Amino acid sequence: DVFARTAAVEDRVQGYVTVTEEAALAQAEAVDKKRAAGEELSALAGIPIAVKDNICTKGTLTTCASKILYNFKPPYNATVVEKLDAHDVVVTGKANMDEFAMGSSCENSATHPTHNPHDLTRVPGGSSGGSAAVVAAGEAPLSLGSDTGGSIRQPASFCGVVGLKPTYGAVSRYGLIAFASSLDQIGPFARSVEDAAMLLDAVTGHDPLHDSTSVKAPFEGSVRANLNADIKGMKIGLPKEYFGAGISDEVRASVLAAAEAYKGLGAEVFEISLPLVEYALPVYYILSSAEASSNLARFDGVKYGYRTPNAGDDLIALYTKSRSEGFGAEVQRRIMLGTYVLSSGYYDAYYKKARAAQRKIKEEFANAFEKCDVILTPVAPTTAYGLGAKTSNPLEMYAGDVCTVSVNIAGLPGLVQPCGFDANKLPIGMQLIGPRFGEQKLLNAGLAFE
Ligand code: GLN
Repeated sequence: DVFARTAAVEDRVQGYVTVTEEAALAQAEAVDKKRAAGEELSALAGIPIAVKDNICTKGTLTTCASKILYNFKPPYNATVVEKLDAHDVVVTGKANMDEFAMGSSCENSATHPTHNPHDLTRVPGGSSGGSAAVVAAGEAPLSLGSDTGGSIRQPASFCGVVGLKPTYGAVSRYGLIAFASSLDQIGPFARSVEDAAMLLDAVTGHDPLHDSTSVKAPFEGSVRANLNADIKGMKIGLPKEYFGAGISDEVRASVLAAAEAYKGLGAEVFEISLPLVEYALPVYYILSSAEASSNLARFDGVKYGYRTPNAGDDLIALYTKSRSEGFGAEVQRRIMLGTYVLSSGYYDAYYKKARAAQRKIKEEFANAFEKCDVILTPVAPTTAYGLGAKTSNPLEMYAGDVCTVSVNIAGLPGLVQPCGFDANKLPIGMQLIGPRFGEQKLLNAGLAFE
């Protein structure tokens, strides 16, 4: 069972912040009883799942891997957790992550880094590194992560598992602790495309009461049933900007080999151009940091979470010290950057310009999808790198997000799945990008390749 496996490997992988074995076993027992009583159950009933630690689980620690939420037990469940519960899915624990989902290596966790199961000296990717690692290590067959700029897709690639970032709005964000609300989406990790489709079916849905940015997706609940690996005639675009300098030869070769395989399956594969993706990285870091600086203002040491013992009776000191002591370096960096680009003197030069560029990038993708059904790209410039390799250089860390952020900027779905290995036997992933609500197409294309 998964907990025996967790006991055997977790001290090396360290994919969890909290393991909820007792509650999980009780829930599994309850599911067994329902089954024995002849109740009609979901296909996911009794299946274990790990949940990223920025998704609220009622009564269970939800820390965002931050000291500032070290003691936070939410009084409510995220909508996705309610949905899992309705399917009798069993939550195994809370997966490790970069603090507040800011990072690409899982090394910004306040408690411990997670290790890549394929090579324990390397990072699992991030920010949903724990969610990817526990699936890759066999500690859970499924997990949920969140993706603001690649946080599901890049760790899926580094760990050799399937990861899907759904269309913005397809999955409710209620109970997902916000990083950048206009970009954040919750999505599945799994070992196969079909499993990912099944989990997407379970969590997707309009949530009118709790998330006004959620919508009723046209594929709601029916992706797995409509999976179809026949992709003859599917038009697949290869944007040349994603295959240029900066992408390692092994990654490029592996993704191009996948493109060849698609031709063999009857797809029409051709080059396209997305010249504006060059601006995606700065646009992403401006917009996401701006939203983060506002979203994270709620952590003030007063309402809940960490409160400094060093403030005496000075209220301003209580705020500043709680935040300085509670947030890690990367989170503070983003708050400062975000506050700066929103400040009155710089708003027009940075924030407003970034929003304008976002509109252009959206248009560019919309135009591309006039010509193709899906777009195939690398996920990250390299495979998993060593722990510590990029921690001293934030800009180098940010540069690793170059292939993933535009999907969030444009609100599109992105599917990542393994497509090969490098010389060190580390997994290489490929990314399929679809039009808004094109999840069915993406997963069909993914299944065909599998
Ligand atoms: N690596 C990106 C960042 O640090 C993306 C993170 C995410 O998707 N949550 O912001």
